[in-house]
Amino acid sequence: MLDLTPKEVKERSALRINPCKTCQPVGAMYAALGVKRCMPHSHGSQGCCSYHRTVLSRHFKEPAIASSSSFTEGASVFGGRSNINTSVKNIFDIYNPDIIAIHSTCLSETIGDDLGSYIMDMDIPEGKAVVHTNTPSYVGSHINGYFNMMMGFMNYLTQSTGASNGKAAVFPGWVNPGDIREMKRIARLMNVPATFFPDQSGVLDAPMTGKYEYYPEGGTTIEEIRGLGDSKGLIALGEIIGVEPAELLKKKWKVPSTLLPMPVGVSYTDAYVSALQKLSKAEVPAELEAERGQLVDLMLDSHQYTYQVKVAIFGDPDVVIGLTSLALEIGMIPKYVITGTPKEEFTRKIEALFAKYGVTGCIAKANSDLFELHQWIKNEPVDLMIGSTYGKQIARAEDIPFVRAGFPVLDRYGGTLLPIVGYNGGIRLVEKITSALMDRFDRDCADEDFEIVM
Ligand code: SF4
Repeated sequence: MLDLTPKEVKERSALRINPCKTCQPVGAMYAALGVKRCMPHSHGSQGCCSYHRTVLSRHFKEPAIASSSSFTEGASVFGGRSNINTSVKNIFDIYNPDIIAIHSTCLSETIGDDLGSYIMDMDIPEGKAVVHTNTPSYVGSHINGYFNMMMGFMNYLTQSTGASNGKAAVFPGWVNPGDIREMKRIARLMNVPATFFPDQSGVLDAPMTGKYEYYPEGGTTIEEIRGLGDSKGLIALGEIIGVEPAELLKKKWKVPSTLLPMPVGVSYTDAYVSALQKLSKAEVPAELEAERGQLVDLMLDSHQYTYQVKVAIFGDPDVVIGLTSLALEIGMIPKYVITGTPKEEFTRKIEALFAKYGVTGCIAKANSDLFELHQWIKNEPVDLMIGSTYGKQIARAEDIPFVRAGFPVLDRYGGTLLPIVGYNGGIRLVEKITSALMDRFDRDCADEDFEIVM
């Protein structure tokens, strides 16, 4: 399949092959789906909207609702003002959301549509809201679109009464609904009442009830977003995705914030638990301590299979930083670590992890692609790959065991319901990694080494 990828690596600046990212509106749409009774709206042509919905539906195996301004030639020439005015009226009339979250696309950005002024002139029904953000896809990635949409909601809605509401705010970053449920469970165990924003749990993992609902039960409410300015403290998870939303809340409403890596593995989950503890002053409950102990025990038990194993890790920056930390905790060598998102901070964070664990000869790169990763692997192979489904052709071409994690995972089921964060998520990851390596050992070993007990 990818057998013809050449070994010789050439520096490329104007071309990405098999990119390790997607476009900004995908992120904006995913963020908007984490708000209760919200209709994400794509201001552009139907093709963009269909693609964005499709990639989300294929990953979550759930319908991802969204509407489109349905640009045709006329809007492309004269601008999309009349399209958005008609769209907003029709959406409230037909689909009755509480809020519409508009994001732009390449086309509307190139035309120069001023969504902010269009919204100011709209007739918005009483009790309803319309917010927007700009998501030009020729810069950044879906990660930028995600935090831009978060800031769109906060810019329009967040207020401060001057008195604390006694709640923490948690920005979970781009993770699956199963991860958000786990983060919320840990916050509950730590006795920290918190608003999670956005919150796709209960939306993109809604149970089968036999009745289709446009707006499932989950999502952060408009009132909760308004109240973010009164939070007693913010924990922003994801040091790349969380920076700008955390800055906004701090600058605008003086909410003190703690920026942390995604809580993947022992030390990063410890950091999340400690940040919650600072807010609640509560003891860490025995239940969490036991989970931590189980994860450490599992890491020790399986160490013989993971120690010094060379691994390539790729995907979204914050998840990849978390996975790299966990890989180092179990003694692996993260030989190649890449993201497609152009954030140099990613490279610095990964290199700091290499230095902390004393590993050398490893490469970290932001704004990279899977073609480049494949070329590196052809020159110096790895024993394992961890990342999104888009790595499966490389894994097949090079015959490398492959663990799926991150976004998107299009060719497996159930992963979005289960966490990779927290101590329980760490247990799941170590089990997946170790099983992939042991399956490979079983496949390749001589008959005399093929053991029932391993
Ligand atoms: S045209 Fe732009 S917004 Fe639309 S799908 Fe392509 S990259 Fe995304």
